[in-house]
Amino acid sequence: MMKFKITETIQDVHTHLALNLEMAKDAGKKVVGCLCSYSPVELILAAGAIPVGLCGTTQIPIEKAEEILSRDQCPKVKSTYGRAISGTCPLFPLADCIIAETTCDGRKKMYELLSREIPMVVMDLPQKPDSLAALVHWTAEVRHARAFLEKQLDVVITDDDLWQAIEKCNRQRSLMTAIFGCMRHDPPPITGFDFVNITSKLRYYVDFEAYIQTLEAFYNELQQNLDTDQGEQVSKRPRILWTGLGSSLGCSKVLEIVEDCGGVVVCQEGCGGITRTEDLIPVHTGDDPIVAIAERYLRVTCACMTPNTQRFSDLERLAKEFRVDGVIDLSWQFCQPFEIESYRVGELVRDRLGLPFLHVVTDYSQSDTGQLRVRIEAFMEQVKEGRQK
Ligand code: SF4
Ligand code: SF4
Repeated sequence: MMKFKITETIQDVHTHLALNLEMAKDAGKKVVGCLCSYSPVELILAAGAIPVGLCGTTQIPIEKAEEILSRDQCPKVKSTYGRAISGTCPLFPLADCIIAETTCDGRKKMYELLSREIPMVVMDLPQKPDSLAALVHWTAEVRHARAFLEKQLDVVITDDDLWQAIEKCNRQRSLMTAIFGCMRHDPPPITGFDFVNITSKLRYYVDFEAYIQTLEAFYNELQQNLDTDQGEQVSKRPRILWTGLGSSLGCSKVLEIVEDCGGVVVCQEGCGGITRTEDLIPVHTGDDPIVAIAERYLRVTCACMTPNTQRFSDLERLAKEFRVDGVIDLSWQFCQPFEIESYRVGELVRDRLGLPFLHVVTDYSQSDTGQLRVRIEAFMEQVKEGRQK
């Protein structure tokens, strides 16, 4: 792992997250769980509560989930549900309620069971984002989620509270965009593995202002690294764009193999990546903040949307901006939306961008590591050959 001065602070926040949330709750704060990139965090901040991601990214809780859910559900659905019912997640019991959305079928049916454990609002997400009716409907769902939080947390969320929360999130997203942007540099200032390791932990906070300072410190260190020789770990390595799922530690086995085979992952397109942080909410006097929030979240480019047009233009732009040499598209097993959409992603990458493409389907276990290594080694050879031409 590459050394950063701020790594210790980031690790510290992550390690003591449950304890610090408990202390914040003792001091009267509320905690709201989120499960997806469609969860409007602005509503939670405007309610004076702390947002916390509760998505499962590890294998351990899956066994418990499989006592109830069939095995042929994606690992994300099983791990998230398993976390909630197995008592293995210290964060879950701290949440006062959860905001969730109807994205894929697996999620929404699992939510029917999850809602037995904790109060939830399941926002009805329209799946044709370009239609006018979609925005009207989604705006009503955001309004409904605001009312849900007001009732559950016994607070009033004013429009001013919402605008302040929007500005906070814009600040945080701008900083994350700058952090992601450092990877445009050739060589990048950090390996993809270390980058994901750190940025996955940077999704959690208790004290927002301290969090902003941490983001600034990480950005400054990355900037300093741009001018120092990082040696073999990143220099002259083929640059890989990662798309699809798994921009978290759940994908660390694939990331590790790619970088062991001589590549460096410089960009992640997807719900945890740069395109989501670039997407700020414009602040205009007189606008309805709920509509502004609804518009932004309807732009999330998940494969549950049809057609998911924006994802394809994002990919084309990012491949050029980050000067990548190849693209890896990851789907979790049994995830129909991303698996099927991968065919079109492959067409775009190979035929239009002229780059090598690899579609990986995997889960959170280590059972396929050997097989993955063989495929990724062959892919990286292809990428290296393409680079020499
Ligand atoms: S991939 Fe889609 S369903 Fe999964 S967390 Fe991201 S936006 Fe939500
Ligand atoms: S990985 Fe696919 S199937 Fe699983 S929750 Fe996300 S969109 Fe749904």
